[in-house]
Amino acid sequence: MRTELTELGLEVQNLNKVYKGYDKSEPVVALKNLSLQVKKGAFFGLLGPNGAGKSTLINILAGLVIKTSGKVKIRNIDQDINVREFKRSIGVVPQETNFDPFLTPYESLDIQAGLYGVKKSERNINQLLKRLGLEGKSNAYMRSLSGGMRRRLLIGKALVHAPEVVILDEPTAGVDIELREMLWDYMKDLNANGTTIILTTHYLEEAQALCEKIAILNKGELIACNDTSDLLARVNLKVINIKYSNLNLKKINLPDKASIKEHKNQKLSISYDRNEIKTDQLLDCLRSQGIIMMDLSTEEADLADVFRLLTKNN
Ligand code: ADP
Ligand code: MG
Repeated sequence: MRTELTELGLEVQNLNKVYKGYDKSEPVVALKNLSLQVKKGAFFGLLGPNGAGKSTLINILAGLVIKTSGKVKIRNIDQDINVREFKRSIGVVPQETNFDPFLTPYESLDIQAGLYGVKKSERNINQLLKRLGLEGKSNAYMRSLSGGMRRRLLIGKALVHAPEVVILDEPTAGVDIELREMLWDYMKDLNANGTTIILTTHYLEEAQALCEKIAILNKGELIACNDTSDLLARVNLKVINIKYSNLNLKKINLPDKASIKEHKNQKLSISYDRNEIKTDQLLDCLRSQGIIMMDLSTEEADLADVFRLLTKNN
């Protein structure tokens, strides 16, 4: 196969991670021979259910977790060979927040800049604090910062050395709408200025709106890596909404390529693969279980539906 001429923002080759396991518990295989390429300047989504290995991958990139085997590169900068250059090329916002309580936000960012070898004259700490909406807090005690402010500071710490690749591990988990929108704008601006962004999120509508390409990890393996629009088209999914009259309906059995999207108050939403199941077949299956349908409607599937189908039973 010919190598592409397009520069790669990030390249992961045959990456494996086995955690030893606590005490005498079994070792955990968190990444299985994972290979992945992200183009320079892309806005890339990394999705997967809990425990898929997303944070493990990100923490390996951040140098927080040691890989068992494999290669990681940014352009041609190898993590194991050009150690310092690699570190300077990447900014990682980890999932966990962890702060020194004795530093102010200004000090925290200034020290971080120093760690990355950013010259004093080139540090734009005040500008960064302002961009993060923390200008009034630059000299505040860390313990006086709210959860959202700490999260913003964590993002600042990842950006202080203006890295060419920024990786964010669930930056919007549990934050309010206002902060979420601020983060989206910031990430979009960074990306528009050429920064490669890799985003992990639980909010699939967020990934659908922001990311041009999406990789899905499941149990340490890559199960999809497509343009977002192709991913939606790849599976011919449809959603059917049913209102039924039975009371106390409990377990519903569905064919293989169908799954329950939502089920409450006698309303049932099912997503199903139109290439595999005919609508008639699905309805027959429900009728055979004694479900009395009152009303029916259908809608197009979104990324969340595709994700549910791809990560089901495997
Ligand atoms: P995700 O971020 O996709 O939820 P993680 O990378 O956090 O997934 O976890 C992947 C797997 O590795 C899970 O089974 C998790 O329990 C395990 N794991 C993560 N960190 C450790 C660790 N430090 N020691 C042992 N197992 C771990
Ligand atoms: Mg995680």
